[in-house]
Amino acid sequence: MQMIKFGEETRLAGIKISEGVAVARVCLFNEDRHANIPIYKVNKSERKKEKGRLIQAIQIGADQLSRVIVDVKKRIGDAESKIFIAQKMILEDTSIHDEMFDDIENEGANAEAAVIRVLDSYETRLLDVDNEYIKARATDIGEIKRRLLDILSEVTPSFLCTGIAQCQRGKNRIIVARELTPSLTVGLEKQQIVGFVTEHGGISSHAAILARAMGIPAVSGIQNIHSMVSCGTEILLNGNEGNVIIWPSQKTIAQYKSGKVYIPKGLYAVDPVDGMKVMANISRHQDIEEAVIVKAEGVGLYRTEFEFLAQGEILSEDEQFKRYKTVVMAMKGQPVYFRLIDVGGDKTADFLDLPAEINPALGFRGSRLLVARNELLAPQARALVRASEFGPVWVLYPMIVDLEQFLIMKQRFLEETADLNPGEIKHGVMFEVPSACLEAKKILKHADFASIGTNDLIQYLYAVDRDNEYVAYDYNPDKEALWNLITLIAKAAKDENRPLSVCGEIAGNKKYIIRLKEIGITRISVGIRQIPELRMGLK
Ligand code: PEP
Ligand code: MG
Repeated sequence: MQMIKFGEETRLAGIKISEGVAVARVCLFNEDRHANIPIYKVNKSERKKEKGRLIQAIQIGADQLSRVIVDVKKRIGDAESKIFIAQKMILEDTSIHDEMFDDIENEGANAEAAVIRVLDSYETRLLDVDNEYIKARATDIGEIKRRLLDILSEVTPSFLCTGIAQCQRGKNRIIVARELTPSLTVGLEKQQIVGFVTEHGGISSHAAILARAMGIPAVSGIQNIHSMVSCGTEILLNGNEGNVIIWPSQKTIAQYKSGKVYIPKGLYAVDPVDGMKVMANISRHQDIEEAVIVKAEGVGLYRTEFEFLAQGEILSEDEQFKRYKTVVMAMKGQPVYFRLIDVGGDKTADFLDLPAEINPALGFRGSRLLVARNELLAPQARALVRASEFGPVWVLYPMIVDLEQFLIMKQRFLEETADLNPGEIKHGVMFEVPSACLEAKKILKHADFASIGTNDLIQYLYAVDRDNEYVAYDYNPDKEALWNLITLIAKAAKDENRPLSVCGEIAGNKKYIIRLKEIGITRISVGIRQIPELRMGLK
């Protein structure tokens, strides 16, 4: 284990869980509160009473969870509360009760021992399943076990410094825990917590989903962090890059601007400018509130797959409809480009049970995946058509490779929604695969609009992985081949009189915006917080 010296800046790499940067002192979550839980043999005459203790604990646990469900529904959202509904169902499962009662009645185990043995065995069995999604659900069993043990032993989840004067119980602190559990995440006041750092927990774990939904920066996968820091250690947590810096120097902090949570760009309104329509890229329906604040002229890219990834499951048609309707209504008649679920490649979704691939960037992804998985396309198409009653819906087909694929996708979309009454709906393509760009004119005769996704286009054009820092020097938007393709697409869009925008990262850079304008592109879509500054520069 790496030794940390007091006050000496130390960088540790982990994985990104939830975006944002925070600088604050640490509050260490007490992971060992059940280390000395009493385990003893119960006499035959006492076993009925012992069973009664357990029944009472289950009842109290279920009542607690009912309150958590109502609270989470109110504070975070309907969908997020389902995590606790599922936990309550497990807690109330009578076959699990019977196994625990059996341990007490026939083996003479005390209630604590019965809880530990039975729930540990369920947890182990789930962890053995070769499916990351199911493995992650073992966390729920662990949570139920800890809840029951807390009730039986009358302890409350606490921080290591509880009782000491400096203990802030997480207030204005970064919480460090071995594992971020859903209860820990939602049990703490959102406004008070600055961030989370954990040793374990994947991007699709429930806790990660909640941290993102609550907008709290988080990093996971920092080995042994729980033993390396103490309550009060200062750390800088970088949820954008997935690392932490222990005892960051003033110089390092200044790079991120010192403060509790540094939000990179401003959230203020600058009026739209002539000659360039600036729309917003969003990932979750909640983002739309900020898009309205900065006066975005529509949503030029709604990466809908993040709704699914954040939830860790396929959303029902109704659940999708609710979210899409919120976004469309907030935009008050301005277009919303809904990109159909674009998973695969770097965006792995365990809940979809996709085949393991040697080269996922060139595999089962984008529209190729949607053509094969109608159960993904159909509910989304229907939800979008229903949302179009409330404002314009522009459907963006991801990773289109040629005209034929676009026509198949559009046909499927129309078939699946034939019984519904659409409002204003347009069908467009993402130009991000070179083969499609080369036949832009042919495609644009059939598509209503298009958006150029330069992030992937650069990757596929130059055969350079966009996520690989070792080859980043070759990921260069300045090279001519990219601009030749963009010019070709812009000309095709002009000839066919189709709206064309750019939604890749280059659209947020003034140098490239000037070049795009020269080529005749008058619509871009960028991160919400980039909009004010970018418009100021275009005035
Ligand atoms: C792109 O590829 O440029 C794009 C906007 O989509 P994403 O970054 O989500 O792949
Ligand atoms: Mg893309």
